[in-house]
Amino acid sequence: MMNLIELREELAESKKIVITTHHKPDGDAMGSSLGLYHFLCSLGHEVHVVTPTDYPYFLHWMPGHPEVIDFTKDAVKSADLVAEADWIFCLDFNTLSRINELGELVRNSSAKKAMIDHHLEPEGFEDFRYWDTTACAAAEMVYRLIVELELTDHINVDVATCLYTGIMTDSGSFRFPSTTSKVHRIIADLIDAGANNSHIHELIYDTNSENRLKFLGRVLGERMTVLPEFNTAYISIEQDLLKQYHIVTGDTEGIVNYALSIHGIKLAVLVIDRGELRKLSFRSKGEFPANEIAKKYFEGGGHRNAAGGASKESLESTINKFLEVLPEYQYLLTL
Ligand code: 5GP
Ligand code: MN
Repeated sequence: MMNLIELREELAESKKIVITTHHKPDGDAMGSSLGLYHFLCSLGHEVHVVTPTDYPYFLHWMPGHPEVIDFTKDAVKSADLVAEADWIFCLDFNTLSRINELGELVRNSSAKKAMIDHHLEPEGFEDFRYWDTTACAAAEMVYRLIVELELTDHINVDVATCLYTGIMTDSGSFRFPSTTSKVHRIIADLIDAGANNSHIHELIYDTNSENRLKFLGRVLGERMTVLPEFNTAYISIEQDLLKQYHIVTGDTEGIVNYALSIHGIKLAVLVIDRGELRKLSFRSKGEFPANEIAKKYFEGGGHRNAAGGASKESLESTINKFLEVLPEYQYLLTL
């Protein structure tokens, strides 16, 4: 495994660099990737961000978005870039299965691999690891890496804007327990470096379409079930409803948090029929390990308070399976 000094030496000369991040990138995935992108560009490297899939429209304003290559839209170019890279930076994930078909291309590339992440249980594919599960966001890790490289002079407005976005979105707008005073100090530095905090909030959060809000109303009114005996609420959304409201990538983001915001609720689950798979989002409060249910029963994982998984069974069977395993966790949920 390479150390920081060796990485610094590697980056002293111009390199071909690919940055990639997880399937269906969220604000932190794109914030950390594009933040690192602008930083490495300013050092004079040839850099490309390649995403395994598309990402929500409310992230499309981010500086660097037009240059991002989506593997599902440009597989040949993505594969060529990965094959020809000197370095591949993997951000906000630590197992290659999280980037779909891109994973094996990255594994087979002769490029050196760096992993910058804050998730549990890394697979160990990388040559350089910058990893801390207490970090609130991969974007926080990128900031810390830049500081450790003693290259903070290269934190320009674009770097600051992207890193601010990553930290803001992954910390639930600075409310999750991972938002330490150190995070607030980093945020202050990013504002000083030019991140327009108020404007970024607007660009991310005030982007609802009329459709999305009506969909949200329908979902909360008709698709949410509260189970007081388990301090749990779940929401299930069938494909027809997604079609009826013309739901696109990003529209379902954050819906699970409404269920978690009910007084007394410790576990919230959102199950969406995505056609080929049923995708599950878990959110919890306090010590309850949402990632354990996701890992044990739904082929997923994540953080203690935010995890995800999938099921090949029907929507109804998936919900039933969840309801069957809940009693195993009743003790923890009603502590
Ligand atoms: P979301 O519910 O927003 O899709 O995912 C929440 C968190 O759960 C993500 O930040 C990620 O850490 C984790 N996660 C989501 N889906 C998966 C999955 O399929 N496998 C693993 N290991 N983690 C996931
Ligand atoms: Mn993250």
